[in-house]
Amino acid sequence: MTRRIDLHTHSTASDGTTTPTDLVRQAREIGLDVLALTDHDTTAGWAEAASALPPGLSLVRGAEISCIRDGISLHLLAYLFDPAEPAFAAQRASLRASRLGRAQRMVELLCADGFAVTWEEVQALADGTVGRPHIARALMAHGIVASIDAAFAPEWIGTHGRYWVGKLELDVVTAIELVTGAGGVAVFAHPAASKRGRTVGDEVIAEMAQAGLAGLEVDHVDHDEQERAHLRALAAELHLLTTGSSDFHGTSKTVQLGAHLTSEASYDEIVTRATGVDVLTG
Ligand code: AMP
Ligand code: ZN
Ligand code: FE
Ligand code: FE
Repeated sequence: MTRRIDLHTHSTASDGTTTPTDLVRQAREIGLDVLALTDHDTTAGWAEAASALPPGLSLVRGAEISCIRDGISLHLLAYLFDPAEPAFAAQRASLRASRLGRAQRMVELLCADGFAVTWEEVQALADGTVGRPHIARALMAHGIVASIDAAFAPEWIGTHGRYWVGKLELDVVTAIELVTGAGGVAVFAHPAASKRGRTVGDEVIAEMAQAGLAGLEVDHVDHDEQERAHLRALAAELHLLTTGSSDFHGTSKTVQLGAHLTSEASYDEIVTRATGVDVLTG
């Protein structure tokens, strides 16, 4: 039987709303065989997910790294890297530290304009890597915005919006080198997700492939059919593998766990290429 493989999910270790324990349980309940935990810029959820792993579920330990190229933000999925490799670990720590300062700054800007959100509230919502969804939830709790999605509008904390503050992001080629240097495998997350802001051109993806990128996340809720077809053709041309994943965030987003899946061939290639840590089996 074909294994059901979801290679991109978030837990309370970043901006998801499901604990690592509940995430692996839910994954098995809905019939997944392989789940990757890919919290933003952190491996903090790995241990809990590993210890709660139900029988029959395989866990791919990963992270989603905040990157930039030519002023455009992009996300890099990193799989099965060695979390102790010092160069990459130091950069993840810097990314998280920067997120903390910028989140505090966004709260200050909101307070200065009379909106009653407090840093304590945001901190209480953020168990791990802090992100804009935590601020969005605080805004929602105060009735300042009607939904998390509304908080991402330009009037609020949407990218380059009124109360938005930028964060540290790694040059994407440097990030690919750090991931592969730590024995990991790098996949470009939602490369064509244009509703989040500008996306990079094919020439940047070609450059990323040169730097050691392994694949493109093609089947993603933020890609339409045309974008998927284009990415699939580009992946074939550049000899990259393709993946499909939910990017599940619990109740922070509407997408369901297992909404998109990765082929066994792509998954097997990722596992074969990785030398950092092993896939864990429950
Ligand atoms: P940050 O990493 O703190 O800059 O926040 C960006 C994160 O917020 C993304 O990685 C998404 O997970 C999430 N996000 C972006 N846009 C939305 C949206 N419209 N609704 C809910 N979550 C979003
Ligand atoms: Zn997120
Ligand atoms: Fe992302
Ligand atoms: Fe994500």
